[in-house]
Parts: sequence; structure tokens; C-alpha cells
Amino acid sequence: MIELKNVSKWYGKFQVLSDCTTHVAKGDVVVICGPSGSGKSTLIKTVNGLEPFQQGEVVVDGVQVGDPRTKLSKLRARIGMVFQNFELFPHLSVRDNLTLAQVKVLGRTRDEATEKGLRYLDRVGLLAQQDKFPSQLSGGQQQRVAIARALAMDPIAMLFDEPTSALDPEMINEVLDVMVGLAQEGMTMMVVTHEMGFARKVAGRIIFMDHGRIVEDSPTEEFFTLPRAERAREFLAKII
Ligand code: ADP
Ligand code: MG
Repeated sequence: MIELKNVSKWYGKFQVLSDCTTHVAKGDVVVICGPSGSGKSTLIKTVNGLEPFQQGEVVVDGVQVGDPRTKLSKLRARIGMVFQNFELFPHLSVRDNLTLAQVKVLGRTRDEATEKGLRYLDRVGLLAQQDKFPSQLSGGQQQRVAIARALAMDPIAMLFDEPTSALDPEMINEVLDVMVGLAQEGMTMMVVTHEMGFARKVAGRIIFMDHGRIVEDSPTEEFFTLPRAERAREFLAKII
């Protein structure tokens, strides 16, 4: 469903992605980890066209992301993305956060959008919070709303960029639990995270990045038991 072939990207002379090749099949959960600044965010943002790249190919569900003729807004509507910092609209209620893009981008009626949005809000356990504003929710609750909002768009895949790294420790699990549920239902997911318990539980593969390169892309158990790349071994030793 998602294919990256020899993707390279530069900021001026600085190469931020070097020859990155990987793939994510329908229903796969792939975790991406690696040191800060190694290019993880940049890599997943190439998938929905949020980061342009100079070389290589990114193909999502048959669509060439790098092709200037591709309608990126259409592609983005089909790929859910959840960031570190929630990014809810602060001036809208939870309910309006859930419905806005459904109405504006997908052309659903307000009633349809509300029904769908509230169904997902219920699923993340926050139906009672629908009239609140983001600032009235905890970080963990805001992130669950952000996930519900993405799901309400019926995405073909979900991208997560360190979704729990801005959360207080006691809120991390409530977000990870929602993500585990999604993974178990067969959602196609690329997840940048250092939550290795989560990775071990649901990821089929782990990608390890360093200096803009994919230095390891292994089945999960193999990654944890015999990481091939020296750099991945050192990294794991530090965080586990
Ligand atoms: P990660 O998510 O692994 O921490 P990023 O993908 O955010 O890494 O960034 C990779 C590298 O690209 C970092 O060294 C970062 O400083 C650099 N970088 C990111 N955005 C820009 C930019 N707009 N201009 C120049 N360098 C950037
Ligand atoms: Mg990042």
C-alpha cells in the first residue's frame, strides 16, 4: 500500500534522507525509531506529501506522491496523521473538531459527520467530552480526540509521529491502548515512537534510522533479539 523507493531529500547541502527504501503492506504495523534528528519525521511526512523530496519515489495506494499532477489534498484526506502536539483546533469544541474536515473535505452533511465523529469519540472513551474545548482536556484526552478525528475520515492508513512523547507518563497508556486496538483491527500504520513495549506488542517490523538512512528494517522479534546494525544495538541498550 505504501512504497518508498530510494527516497533522498536535501535541505540545501544537508542531506536529511539518504536512499530510503521500504514498504508497508495493507494491515502492516511498522514502527520507526532512531535518534533525534535521524529523519524519522521527515520520512513519514513524505508519505502524505507534507515533505517534498528530490529523488526517488513514494507510491501510496497506486498514487505517485512526488508527481506534481497528484492532488495532495485528496491524498492527505485518505491518510490520517497524528502528531506529537495534538494539533486540535483550539477555538472549536471537540465535536466541531471531529466534524470540520469531514464536511469541508469529504463533503459529508453535518448530521453524517456528527454521527461518525461521535462514534469514534465513543470508541476512544470520550463521548462525554464532546462539548468541551481542547484546552479543557488533558494531553492524553486531546491526543485521543486527534486519533478519533483522523479515523472519522475513513483513512486507508494512519501515520503517527511520536504521539505520546509530549504526554505525562500516566497518560501514555491510554493513547497506546487506542493504537493497539487499531493495530489489532488491521489498520495499516506507520508509527514513529520509542515506546518499545508497544512496538513489541503490535509491530510486524521495526525500522531503525540514523543520519537519514534506514540502517535496519527487520521483523520485530529479530530486531529485539539480534539487531544487525551496531547503531541499533547501542540505541536499544540505552532505551530499554
Ligand atoms: P527526527 O524526526 O528523527 O528527529 P527530523 O526528520 O525532524 O528528525 O529531522 C531530520 C534532520 O533534518 C534534523 O537534523 C533537522 O535538524 C533537519 N531539518 C528538519 N527540518 C529542517 C528544515 N526545514 N531545514 C533544515 N533542516 C531541517
Ligand atoms: Mg521527529
